[in-house]
Amino acid sequence: AQFSELGVSEVMLASLEKAQYHQPSPVQAGVIPLALEGKDVLGQARTGTGKTASFGIPILERLERQGRSAPPQALVLVPTRELAVQVRDEIDKLSHGSKVRTLALYGGKPIRQQVVKLEKGAEIVVGTPGRVLDHMSRGTLVLEGLKMVVLDEADRMLDIGFRPDIEKILRRCPKTRQTLLLSATVAPAVERLAQRYMRDPEVLDF
Ligand code: AMP
Repeated sequence: AQFSELGVSEVMLASLEKAQYHQPSPVQAGVIPLALEGKDVLGQARTGTGKTASFGIPILERLERQGRSAPPQALVLVPTRELAVQVRDEIDKLSHGSKVRTLALYGGKPIRQQVVKLEKGAEIVVGTPGRVLDHMSRGTLVLEGLKMVVLDEADRMLDIGFRPDIEKILRRCPKTRQTLLLSATVAPAVERLAQRYMRDPEVLDF
């Protein structure tokens, strides 16, 4: 398949060209069209498969034009600070030349700087569950405007013990949101999470 056959916009095709992504990976070819339709997707995908762009592209395509201080429209939960930075950088690469702001929130960094950035506004937030919860309880991160939530490396987040945090966060997200879940393995614990917090997900295996 070609990116142009997956339903992505001309602007995105130009970004992909610039990033030298000439062809979608299998994960991208599977996830992107369904995600652009607004479906929930549970994808079994390891790292290195292009999974980040498989949700990054639909997030960027589905953003709505809103005021600069409107609350975030997309939240990506990741297991580690390294992955938070990687995912943010990948989304930045794909949104190059646009005004979209993607903010990484993770522990081990003074919370104050993150608060200041959140106050200025961000369309997309990528964060570890602990730090995201911290900002929620401080009232510096508002989830009411979320249209999309992504659980990236869900199995690893559960292994680390983030289940209670993830559930607290998901219970506070708007019911009408779209949810994407990526996981290297779909163990029963991941399936339970999907059953509870996703709406009739399309299940894809790569
Ligand atoms: P990921 O699995 O998301 O960590 O991506 C692995 C690497 O592949 C990253 O460095 C991406 O920038 C790169 N990548 C993702 N999609 C494509 C693509 N369609 N063509 C070429 N490189 C890609």
